Amino acid sequence: VTGAAGQIGSALVPFLRERYGADRVLATDLRALPGPLTAEGPHRRLDCLDPEALDEAVSDHRPQVIYHLAALLSAVAEEDPSRSYRVNMDGLVHVLEVARERGCAVFVPSSIAAFGPTSPRDETPQETIQRPTTIYGVTKVAGELLSDYYHSRYGLDVRGLRFPGLISPGTLPGGGTTDYAVEIFHRALSEGRYTCFLRPDTQLDFMYMPDAVRAAVELMEADGTKLAYRNAYNVTAMQITPEGLGEAVRRHIPGFRMDYDVDPLRQRIADSWPRRLDDSAARAEWGWEPFYDLEAMTAHMVEALSETALPEGRYGHAP
Ligand code: NAD
Repeated sequence: VTGAAGQIGSALVPFLRERYGADRVLATDLRALPGPLTAEGPHRRLDCLDPEALDEAVSDHRPQVIYHLAALLSAVAEEDPSRSYRVNMDGLVHVLEVARERGCAVFVPSSIAAFGPTSPRDETPQETIQRPTTIYGVTKVAGELLSDYYHSRYGLDVRGLRFPGLISPGTLPGGGTTDYAVEIFHRALSEGRYTCFLRPDTQLDFMYMPDAVRAAVELMEADGTKLAYRNAYNVTAMQITPEGLGEAVRRHIPGFRMDYDVDPLRQRIADSWPRRLDDSAARAEWGWEPFYDLEAMTAHMVEALSETALPEGRYGHAP
């Protein structure tokens, strides 16, 4: 797992270790990994921009699948477009190359950011116009196409999902446009109020992390002959607005107060993304189905963050 110290990796690694055995899952990242990931299984520092180090890690550990999560997310990427292009594109090329040479499968997450203002924003189809206006989105579309190319040209088993905004009680998000939906829980519990950087009516797709890691693993375990799209399946679990999430939080934390101080950059990014994805291809081809809706996710987030003893990345079981 590359980028394992991030929001998804810190949940995916424990999930994979529980499923396949702790010693069979190598957690890697450029930065220091969280304690539980280093205590429970193999780990190493790894920069995806260093192809030799990547090859060494793969030849030492000999994985069947590389879950490639290392990337710079939307808002952070806008601050340094050329670095984000290098991390998101060169890093992916190095991973695809090492997988091709050493015979591993690859999981590559795309995003709702792969769509843009000219894509249909409601029931956004699996296949439609994709002309994103962010550098992050540009790298995500290019990554989808490159993954398709490696499959058709070299027969590499590369698969991927277009994740929506992800909500989790563990590691905080790394600087995306949907981070408000995680921050709100922390502030609601610590201060009873939250100032949101998006407009109250900004509707976007979201998913709770236990569904997201399960989706990634179910896709990688699916029968490859049934996958028509392989890369970049639309997947979603719920549609949320800041206003609606604020009301859901208030049902658990009475008196919770929501204010707004709109950040023009992140609002512009959010306004260019789908309001609701059509994920029927994922449902039909490999049986995708979310367990958590807004109510179940909110209840679980409040409970998880109220239990200070909850180890990072642990969620209990989906309902
Ligand atoms: P994150 O920012 O929390 O974590 C990314 C990790 O990558 C970080 O720990 C960072 O240290 C690491 N990294 C950065 N540059 C690296 C490099 N050169 N070499 C090795 N590691 C490096 O991101 P995340 O939320 O865990 O996202 C993982 C993947 O999922 C990304 O491709 C992201 O675009 C995608 N995704 C995330 C979301 C979301 O809401 N979190 C939504 C859609 C798609």
